[in-house]
Amino acid sequence: MNMTHPFRDADGDKLREECGIFGVIGAKEAAAIAAAGLHSLQHRGQEAVGITSFSGAEFHSHRGIGHVAQVFSQKEVDTLPGSMASGHVRYATTGGSGLRNVQPLFADLAAGGFSIAHNGNISNAMTLKRDLVSKGSIFQSTSDTEVIIHLVATSRYPTLLDRFVDALRMVEGAYSLICMTAEGMIACRDPLGIRPLVMGRIGDATVFASETVAFDVIGAEFIRSIEPGELVQVDHKGTISSHRPFGNPAPRPCIFEHVYFSRPDSVMDGRSVYQVRKQIGMELAKEAFADADVVIPVPDSGVPAAIGYAQQSGIPFELGIIRSHYVGRTFIQPGDAARHADVKRKHNANRAIVEGKRIILIDDSIVRGTTSKKIVEMMRDAGAAEVHMRIASPPTEHSCFYGVDTPERSKLLAATMDTEAMADFIKADSLAFVSIDGLYRAVGEAERATKCPQFCDACFTGDYPTRLTDFADREAELNAA
Ligand code: SF4
Repeated sequence: MNMTHPFRDADGDKLREECGIFGVIGAKEAAAIAAAGLHSLQHRGQEAVGITSFSGAEFHSHRGIGHVAQVFSQKEVDTLPGSMASGHVRYATTGGSGLRNVQPLFADLAAGGFSIAHNGNISNAMTLKRDLVSKGSIFQSTSDTEVIIHLVATSRYPTLLDRFVDALRMVEGAYSLICMTAEGMIACRDPLGIRPLVMGRIGDATVFASETVAFDVIGAEFIRSIEPGELVQVDHKGTISSHRPFGNPAPRPCIFEHVYFSRPDSVMDGRSVYQVRKQIGMELAKEAFADADVVIPVPDSGVPAAIGYAQQSGIPFELGIIRSHYVGRTFIQPGDAARHADVKRKHNANRAIVEGKRIILIDDSIVRGTTSKKIVEMMRDAGAAEVHMRIASPPTEHSCFYGVDTPERSKLLAATMDTEAMADFIKADSLAFVSIDGLYRAVGEAERATKCPQFCDACFTGDYPTRLTDFADREAELNAA
């Protein structure tokens, strides 16, 4: 995330995961494997991509703006020799889309070369940066991740691993990291495990990725999740060691990974993302049944929950909206008019299914409400008799400070309106959200443990699991507004 725009104002109407990371050590053509892995993580970040490899003597990097397939042809992969490589896909943040912010970041430290790929956001990065700059550090990027490099560089511990742990003790927020040194690879997850990271094996090589789907694509075997607060070190002989420098705080992984960010064919912390989404739809049908003729998903993200809703309610599931797969992402269109036109190019009503019917529309979330409004209007234009909107997450009332691209709080529809007013705004006959306990039941918990919740759910509840040093004043201001 870009430090200069902590409250970046995304144009789109979806929360966006900002990064996906991948690493491989012990494989021939490691960079080619990294490119394939990153391709399957493309949904986590579509604006820029980078890969760094280590040839045994030197580090090599190639980074570019665009999709993995656009930035990495065989020609670029051939410039990245070696048996160790790591890579990163990201969404650009406002003012931060320049190449200097594209990861992995690399620095030649006194202790040797150090590369870092980061998924998450450090919520005290600006405070740390001010301190580092006052002591003489010179920053090359506006990325929060660079703070870790400077903290490692200035640590007084003797080994790179100890310096790295020393640096992490000073940062707060969310981080899944894949780092490379001449000695090998270090993969780690923040003490609460807010952002995901998994480990696998392909032949003699060890691989790390944000999601298990990357292993399916490269033919690797999933071994396990990196535990919250765990550092896994792998050397060039394939020796793996696990370190737990932060004790054992209760984990708080991001529950929104299950709702929307992760691909449905991934397994997140032992749970099939697809099955969880279907279960959310079932909970929604139990909590907010509507008498209707047909259940229609807003594609693609609403599909599993709509199947669950249909199975639980006995109301037939139909594809009443067809999505074009050849349209770029909605949010890169700058103005409101262009964005609305884009919604129509992206989704089209299937009149044969919709006309004359009472429909239940299922979507994963409502952020600003602009897309929901357009889709309800589209259903009415196609002749729907009634439109009942059902949302497979609780109302998104708060911004995320952990590496997810969220509009500022005042732009979140649920932060400014109650459910009835939101239904009026999107012009639906009725609107309902799954409850927070319904969501917890869908991920396999009996209920949300109020005193010590099992997940980060701050965008629904405002209960942030870490300190927010850089954002505390601004958030208090927004909450009071
Ligand atoms: S605030 Fe929401 S999106 Fe951000 S980490 Fe927590 S649950 Fe995930």
